[in-house]
Amino acid sequence: LMDRRSELASGKLTLAGVTLGHAPLFIAGHCTIDPKNPNLFYESAEAIKKAGAHMLRGGVWKPRTMPYSYQGDSSALDILLEARERTGLPINTEVMDEAQLNIVLEHGVDMIQVGARNALNYPLLRRIGEVTAGSKTAVLLKRGRPMAAPEECLAAAEYIAAAGNPNILLCPRGTLPQMDGYRNHPDECITQLLKEKTWASVIVDPSHSVGRAGYVPGAALAGMAYGADGIVVECHIDPGHGIGDDPKQAITPAILKDLIEDSSAVWKL
Ligand code: PEP
Ligand code: MN
Repeated sequence: LMDRRSELASGKLTLAGVTLGHAPLFIAGHCTIDPKNPNLFYESAEAIKKAGAHMLRGGVWKPRTMPYSYQGDSSALDILLEARERTGLPINTEVMDEAQLNIVLEHGVDMIQVGARNALNYPLLRRIGEVTAGSKTAVLLKRGRPMAAPEECLAAAEYIAAAGNPNILLCPRGTLPQMDGYRNHPDECITQLLKEKTWASVIVDPSHSVGRAGYVPGAALAGMAYGADGIVVECHIDPGHGIGDDPKQAITPAILKDLIEDSSAVWKL
């Protein structure tokens, strides 16, 4: 872990072509990939690349509050892989169990996401660390729901690192109880505290923090002002036709372009 800290400091840690800690990393894409409408994702992917993002996100399997809501489908992974092929952008997706983990590893998914609901699932964290040990695979580890303490986030990252993979990005994504009118209670401000205490990188998720597209750029800038190493944001070419969180909280590629420019300017301050 001291190695990761010194690698970060000396600019040796690159991800998606970005030197972590030396330039901000931008990850964008659908909350959920609609397997019935692959072209929507391909079009978003091209536009997201054009807007300047470095990595593509797309939900294949989804941790939905209700078991009757759309739960995801393995066929969406083929769409994500095809989008990587077409754009050349590396890809991120969430896994919730070992079976899903094995599938994404088979396909060399570049970044594995652990969502807020599994962020303290120690057997899963340990397993991810083991199977990605010594590889280039990055792990995006969200802050645990409802309101994991900073120390719990850091300890969760430690589980993955101790099992063999320190290539971790911690991710504040809002806490519960939520602020009135917001999806969660925005917690971009925890970034500064986390960064003082950890060897991991920290990127913020303004989409799940505020949960409303119109508020996302402000929350993104706040994260940058607090010293985040990057942003992961939901972005959709046509949010109204998205599924999952996209209709409510995805920004368009045009907004993403501005967000990347403005965030980069704040990051440099
Ligand atoms: C997501 O990234 O779409 C997601 C489900 O996030 P979280 O785990 O933070 O709720
Ligand atoms: Mn989402």
